Amino acid sequence: MELKKPCTHCDGESVYSQYTYRANVAGVTVSDPRQMAYVCNVCGEVLLTTGEVAGLQRRAAMTALRDLPSIRGEALRYARKAAGLRLVDLARLLDIAPETISRYETSNDAVPRAVQVAMHGLLLLRESGVSLQSLIDAATKPVGATELVVPAPTPHAA
Ligand SMILES: [Zn+2]
Repeated sequence: MELKKPCTHCDGESVYSQYTYRANVAGVTVSDPRQMAYVCNVCGEVLLTTGEVAGLQRRAAMTALRDLPSIRGEALRYARKAAGLRLVDLARLLDIAPETISRYETSNDAVPRAVQVAMHGLLLLRESGVSLQSLIDAATKPVGATELVVPAPTPHAA
């Protein structure tokens, strides 16, 4: 059965179908051909929720950080924002001064590879259901804990 709804832009009809999302990650086009969305068969308008767009941006950022040999600051900033992290949060998570993160993001030089890999890891964790806030909380706990509890497994997104 075909899923359809009226287009919000024109008199056409939007059909639930495959389409390729393209993100511009700091000048690199990242294509995501496995998306499903309502696409208007007249004007081509694609209906996506803000949550869906955020997910697409996270996957684009992950792909860029994983597949590029090095990234510049603009890509780090894109990835951090896609992960929903403030600059101070990323600084806390990586134990790097906020000023240094800020310098990485605004510089035209390559970001240190360790930061690129760590940012990719944070996006992967978020994608697998780990709360980045819980990691920030853990980073601010007093050292010397002698007891930890294994968290309940997170259900996989469909
Ligand atoms: Zn339309």
